[in-house]
Amino acid sequence: MSVLVFADNSEGKFKKGAFELISYGKKVAEQSQTNLVVLTINADDLSELANYGAEKVLKVKDEKLTNFNARAYADVIKQASDKEDSSMIIIESSTNGLYLSPILAVNLEAGYASNVVALPTSIEPFTLKRKAFSTKVFSFIEINTPKKLIGLSKNSFGLVENPTNVVEENFIPTLNDRDFTIQITGIEKSSGEVTIADADIVVSGGRGLKGPENWGMIEDLAHVLGAATACSKPVSDLGWRPHSEHVGQTGKPVSSNLYIAVGISGAIQHLAGVNAAKVKVVINTDEEAPFFKAADYGIVGDAFEVVPKLTEKLKEFKSNQ
Ligand SMILES: Cc1cc2nc3c(=O)[nH]c(=O)nc-3n(C[C@H](O)[C@H](O)[C@H](O)COP(=O)(O)OP(=O)(O)OC[C@H]3O[C@@H](n4cnc5c(N)ncnc54)[C@H](O)[C@@H]3O)c2cc1C
Repeated sequence: MSVLVFADNSEGKFKKGAFELISYGKKVAEQSQTNLVVLTINADDLSELANYGAEKVLKVKDEKLTNFNARAYADVIKQASDKEDSSMIIIESSTNGLYLSPILAVNLEAGYASNVVALPTSIEPFTLKRKAFSTKVFSFIEINTPKKLIGLSKNSFGLVENPTNVVEENFIPTLNDRDFTIQITGIEKSSGEVTIADADIVVSGGRGLKGPENWGMIEDLAHVLGAATACSKPVSDLGWRPHSEHVGQTGKPVSSNLYIAVGISGAIQHLAGVNAAKVKVVINTDEEAPFFKAADYGIVGDAFEVVPKLTEKLKEFKSNQ
């Protein structure tokens, strides 16, 4: 028996999410007194995985799997799980993860919980806490199938260092032509130095910024913080910013540690997508703006005065470190 973690990567490099998944998988394996196995597909450097408790790593290398393919990836994870006799399979509730999980759950005949935010609250019956309705509520669900598929929500568990001696093993799955009837033929990256999905900090601008020509100060603040840039829906609808930056109920979800909203009113559709951010800072001229009710820190002030001063202070702070 084992716990299997699928550690996804981007162009061969692991991101923080993969390490969080392994940290989580290690604790789940300890809870259920079993071993942790990590599956990687076309990853370059596996050495960092050992820092978070990976005991055994299955390495898949195949050019056909260079680009994400939900059916093929689900097939490979199923084969790895059969080989390792895994009773629990853990993947990230990322866009790719949410896409492949239902296929994998059917293949495994496994009960599946997405957006899980904590360790199992009980092993018998197997109970998980997950977020629902744009993080407005948490639900507790039981999985009663022999195999269990867990989709872990990003930034919900954190990184736990747990150095181990890792055993690497090449794994050659059988790839089925039927899985490649739809293929990604090219990738065009959106602008921005850090992606919203991977960011620890997101700096977001709304209609209060008046026009696209004023985004320099948002980019400067994001740059000094190493943050991703985002925007409200009207801003991308107006063409001020690319659609890839639109966050909210109909845009990308944000689960960063810090979300700074500048000139955004805080409509429910916007809040629905950013509720999961741990700390929310709001800068708005209108003290009645609804966003202040959801904010951890609020600055009532003109973004055109506050943001450059904040960026300046942060630069000073960084240069004194
Ligand atoms: C079905 C549906 C889905 C939607 N999905 C989304 C979604 O996913 N994401 C989303 O964002 N919206 C969504 N919306 C739109 C949402 O309802 C709001 O209209 C939108 O979020 C408002 O954007 P905003 O806050 O940028 O603009 P506004 O509502 O115009 O607010 C601008 C804010 O800037 C402040 N301001 C003005 N000048 C300054 C200044 N100099 N300094 C600081 N603050 C200033 C104002 O006080 C105001 O609070 C959706 C709507 C619908 C109907």
